[in-house]
Amino acid sequence: MRYEAPGSIESAVALLAQEKGRAYVLAGGTDLLVRLRGGYIEPDLVVDVKRIESMRKIVPEAGGFRIGAAVPAAELGEHPAVKKLWPGVVEAVELIGSKQVQGRATMVGNLCNASPAADSVPAMVAAGAVATVVGPNGKRNLPVEEISTSPGKTTLAKGEIVESILLAARPPHSGDAYLRFIPRTEMDIAVVGAGVNITLDDKGVCKAARVALGAVAERVLLVGPAADALIGTKLDEAALDKLAAAASAACRPIDDKRGTKEFRIKVAGVLARRAATIALERARKS
Ligand SMILES: Cc1cc2nc3c(=O)[nH]c(=O)nc-3n(C[C@H](O)[C@H](O)[C@H](O)COP(=O)(O)OP(=O)(O)OC[C@H]3O[C@@H](n4cnc5c(N)ncnc54)[C@H](O)[C@@H]3O)c2cc1C
Repeated sequence: MRYEAPGSIESAVALLAQEKGRAYVLAGGTDLLVRLRGGYIEPDLVVDVKRIESMRKIVPEAGGFRIGAAVPAAELGEHPAVKKLWPGVVEAVELIGSKQVQGRATMVGNLCNASPAADSVPAMVAAGAVATVVGPNGKRNLPVEEISTSPGKTTLAKGEIVESILLAARPPHSGDAYLRFIPRTEMDIAVVGAGVNITLDDKGVCKAARVALGAVAERVLLVGPAADALIGTKLDEAALDKLAAAASAACRPIDDKRGTKEFRIKVAGVLARRAATIALERARKS
């Protein structure tokens, strides 16, 4: 196995594109190295992107923030301005692993690992985050929900790297939140995750919403009917009941040792409702 740590994204793309065998991007390595050591993958080439300076920065952009794909979770959690603007996204990132894992793991690694249970992904999808992808044919931007298709599979073509994630500016009276259910208190894989992002008008009526669910399908789901249940309401009990019902209805989960289908479907509604209530409190204060 060859290990390369190029200093520019162009070199990284060229290395990945030219490799005839199995090539992988390495960011924090907290998923990749586990799979490598476990014998699940046998790379011919590993391209470490942590030495690419431009991918290690958090840069303000048009009232929002562009998060480099090699920025570790710990750095994002310690960035007060990103935390203030997108608290739900940052709280989701901060749930990943332990202090040690946080020092290495990236939000983009969480996304490109393509686990339906990845914690930061429902929060990013709810936030309308956009990934900038660089490859042999140039640059393209795509909504985060279009990256993963099923466990371990992405829409990224050979040689493509996610360079950064844009968390956009947001109007006043906006709030987001992420909640997950795990059987233990920490260091566990989400049995269900729910991200909610809302914007209220001056009278407190919800004028925009996005709701995303994790661990209830083959990929993270953006649930339009759940958002529709909130829009035009003040998130009263009736609206929250409709949101919970729409969230549960969207689920197509598996049964496994951590949760039955029935349990996941029920919990998706409960968590979406609770996350919406937190997002509402935040929106009222912002
Ligand atoms: C002890 C432990 C606890 C964990 N707890 C959680 C948890 O609570 N919640 C959770 O969601 N996850 C958890 N994880 C999983 C893991 O830490 C996260 O998914 C993490 O965000 C992965 O980021 P990384 O930078 O380490 O990715 P890596 O391991 O470097 O990469 C993951 C995958 O993404 C690809 N990739 C990485 N960067 C890019 C890029 N820029 N462009 C294209 N492809 C790329 C890699 O090729 C690889 O296939 C845990 C892992 C461990 C070991």
